[in-house]
Amino acid sequence: MAASFPFLWHMDQILDFFRRLTDTSDWPARWFCGRWSDFHGWLYIVSDLTIWLAYMAIPLILIRFIILKKGIPLPSVFLLFGTFIMLCGATHLLDALMFWWPAYRLAALVKLLTGVVSVATVIALVRYFNEAIGLRTSREFERELLFRQQAVQELSRSNQELQQFAYVASHDLQSPLKTIVNYLTLFESKYGEQLDTDARRMIDTSTAAADRMRTLINDLLDFSRVGSVVEYKPVDLNELVAEILNEHQEDIRLSDATIELGPLPTLMAHRTDLKQVFQNLITNGLKYRRTDVAVRLSIQAVDEGSAHRFVIADNGIGIEPQHYDRIFQIFQRLHGRSTYPGTGIGLATCKKVIDIYGGKIWLDSMPGAGTTFYLTIPKKIKTVQHYAQTDSLHSVSR
Ligand code: ADP
Repeated sequence: MAASFPFLWHMDQILDFFRRLTDTSDWPARWFCGRWSDFHGWLYIVSDLTIWLAYMAIPLILIRFIILKKGIPLPSVFLLFGTFIMLCGATHLLDALMFWWPAYRLAALVKLLTGVVSVATVIALVRYFNEAIGLRTSREFERELLFRQQAVQELSRSNQELQQFAYVASHDLQSPLKTIVNYLTLFESKYGEQLDTDARRMIDTSTAAADRMRTLINDLLDFSRVGSVVEYKPVDLNELVAEILNEHQEDIRLSDATIELGPLPTLMAHRTDLKQVFQNLITNGLKYRRTDVAVRLSIQAVDEGSAHRFVIADNGIGIEPQHYDRIFQIFQRLHGRSTYPGTGIGLATCKKVIDIYGGKIWLDSMPGAGTTFYLTIPKKIKTVQHYAQTDSLHSVSR
């Protein structure tokens, strides 16, 4: 029967089509339709089956690729493309089966589906074309990686130099400083009685300046050493904080401080790094106090799953919000030395440790009422050195 074209509007035909979708009684099997030689028929069948097998393998490979290579860009386009290839394969399988099983309705339906998915794939490819063009090829990645590796090498070399410079400079400065202090002390004890008050005052001022310089050098040394040790051991913070409080008993007594100490965790880290952090925050809490109020200091820890959050709160003089960032920079102080002694290195050291450990440090404060410092430290600390030692850049499953 000749086909009349606007077949779409023949509702009865459509219903009949779906009702008898797998009914094959209207046609002969393809072997009996026309004249096939064995060679011709089997050539057709084997070729169709080969195409079908290859078309089935491609989506399976794509699916395995998507599962293994986590985070690939545009996974939906990959899936759509896989479906398109699979349906193309199905049309070839049906074509081969038709030699025995003339399922022409089913074949038409599979072809329709293939057509729809092909159009969707084309639309997706056109739509994501620009995005795909923007994706870097592995060669471009390699080039960028190489560039970054060189930049990192250059940075770590100059960083090492700087660290060494800070270390050597501060270390070597200590010896002439010791000589100055020793001679000043010697001078005073030998000629002290012959000196008038003015001369004594000058010696006292020089000794005090030398003392300050020693503190500065020691703080700088501590700062330059931070992060130099990457072999971590368990550090019980309860014990570490108890040690710090014990070493500052006198300050605690003088400031009439009450210290509220929550249970603290044990971290795999470098003990000296952590001591720097907690010592600086605790001593600042004791130091920046209001004169008329007894110090109240609280040190707590909260388990946040992959990290620990520490909260160190005081009831001291507080900090204006515009200084929140500044105080973490080295040598930045908000007060004169005569009001509150210090070097301006403490919080910079805290930040350096926390940055290296992959955590965060920030604060909240009410001027005249108190300051709360927050810091997070990941439970599994992974510094750049750790990555360099253990992780492959091409890792697929991490
Ligand atoms: P230092 O205490 O030696 O001056 P820090 O780096 O520890 O250096 O602190 C930088 C500045 O931040 C301090 O000079 C002080 O003005 C301010 N600051 C730090 N901690 C507190 C605090 N708990 N309360 C008020 N101000 C603080």
